[in-house]
Amino acid sequence: MKSQKSFPRDFLGCLSWSVWTINAALILVAIAAYLIFRAQLSLFQPIPTLIPTPAILPSPPGQLAAPRAEEQAAGTPMASLADELPPATPTDPSYLEGPFVIGSSAGGRPLQMWRFGNGPTKRLIVAGIHGGNEINTIQLADQLIEYLSAHPEIVPADITLYLLRSLNPDGEARGTGPIGRTNDNGVDLNRNWPYRWKANWNRYGCFVAVPVSGGSHPASEPETVALLNFIESRSIDALISYHSAALGIFPGGVPEYPPSVRLAEAIAAVTTYPYPPIDTGCDYTGNLTDWAASRGIAAVDIELRNHTDTDFEQNLIVLKVFLNWKR
Ligand SMILES: [Zn+2]
Repeated sequence: MKSQKSFPRDFLGCLSWSVWTINAALILVAIAAYLIFRAQLSLFQPIPTLIPTPAILPSPPGQLAAPRAEEQAAGTPMASLADELPPATPTDPSYLEGPFVIGSSAGGRPLQMWRFGNGPTKRLIVAGIHGGNEINTIQLADQLIEYLSAHPEIVPADITLYLLRSLNPDGEARGTGPIGRTNDNGVDLNRNWPYRWKANWNRYGCFVAVPVSGGSHPASEPETVALLNFIESRSIDALISYHSAALGIFPGGVPEYPPSVRLAEAIAAVTTYPYPPIDTGCDYTGNLTDWAASRGIAAVDIELRNHTDTDFEQNLIVLKVFLNWKR
């Protein structure tokens, strides 16, 4: 018993007091150094709440184009725009969705839609119905998508805005100028809608730069069917279809549809585009906005002032008027 009790005392007695003091100090220094090291590491760790979720970030400009090499080759001057606009901020996915595909073109290219806001009143902007011939409308759509992605505050709480970047990616891929006007079936997609449709029409005052068709029958084209189904399934209340160039603002409706006229007047009041539009004498058969008006949708065609400029500043004002317009 004695030897057991005295063993620790004897063992400690083997070590000098100073050695124990030095060991204890070294251990304390090591612990302190470890804690300081960890604290410094944490300064370089990203704070989780500041990392935007990839799913809710708007697509970079380079990804806005349909994923075909020839389309990407066509390119848009988005780099300078991205420099001018404030950076996109992370937004609630209930505000922003897109691009999502609502169908395919005759040539198998995706029709890309975006959604901004989630209010009960549904509105729609359509660009590129005339493809590469009106490429600046698609470039304007890209600019509006960038702006809307970064500025959720401009969409009123009661509005959902849909934006179709390009209804005619076939024509967009084929090239700019008249050669890019139709889809891959040679159809003018603004002549294919199932209202006042004609297989053929008097070309007086109309586009004649290249041969175009209205399709084999009303809504014969996959682009028309996809957008028509989208509009009807979402109960769209008002829409803008962008064109170029120069003829002005056309209210949809034959006979005249008062909500379209009121929307056209509201847009005309904040733009320099001609209104009433310039009358070339052309009979616009089977077009989107006349069909929309026949379905109770306030609809206008807006023609940009030429085939190259997007008139972004002016159309940003149009966007705000459109979002706040009351039927
Ligand atoms: Zn057009």
